[in-house]
Amino acid sequence: MINAYMYSPFMMYWDWTYIFVIIAAVISAIASMKVNTTFSRYSSVRAMSGMTGAEAAQRILRSQGIMDVQVRHVSGNLTDHYDPRSKILNLSDSVYGSTSVAAIGVAAHECGHAVQHQVGYAPLNIRSTLVPIANFGQTISWPLILIGFLLNGSVSQMFLYAGVILFSAAVLFQLVTLPVEFNASSRALRLLQDNGILASDEIGKTRKVLSAAALTYVAGAIGAILQLLRLLILIGGRRRDD
Ligand SMILES: [Zn+2]
Repeated sequence: MINAYMYSPFMMYWDWTYIFVIIAAVISAIASMKVNTTFSRYSSVRAMSGMTGAEAAQRILRSQGIMDVQVRHVSGNLTDHYDPRSKILNLSDSVYGSTSVAAIGVAAHECGHAVQHQVGYAPLNIRSTLVPIANFGQTISWPLILIGFLLNGSVSQMFLYAGVILFSAAVLFQLVTLPVEFNASSRALRLLQDNGILASDEIGKTRKVLSAAALTYVAGAIGAILQLLRLLILIGGRRRDD
């Protein structure tokens, strides 16, 4: 959940717009603190069903008639994700074998993505299409912008505009991620209830975990928008200086 935009070459420049970088960093830190504390609190609350994250995922997938998705164990902390290309649902150390309400919630959330994939949920498809463009944009935009700032005249403008357009693709990706994540969590809670995996008081606890996780995506999107704003202000200021 590291926000790559924080580590842009523009950290070197100290100007008033740097406040945007600081705000983005603070929001990101608060969100990640919130998800870590909420997850660890509900990691110690054992679900009455006694099911592990992996078992819950299996049951949910079967209940939706999804037979071709594999549930696998992946190392790391909060590294859980569903890979639509390989149809593999990866669950992390603290989720795969854990019987906590937090683990089951995360597992169900990943199932939510698998269901989105199965039903052809439009924002997920848009997001998947944007992945390569966003990755390329994120990697190449800052070097282009930096070169643009070092050059002069129309060549400089060309680099700056190309950089901004590519950076915007990365921002768009962050925005499209939001409905995908919120929808996966609401599907998860419904599926947990419908399949009788969690009792209603447990659902409330799981909802807290998933809401905290969603906050990190909101923080990422806000951070990306703030970076884009800063970029536009810096470029605007430079044009006035020309
Ligand atoms: Zn997700």
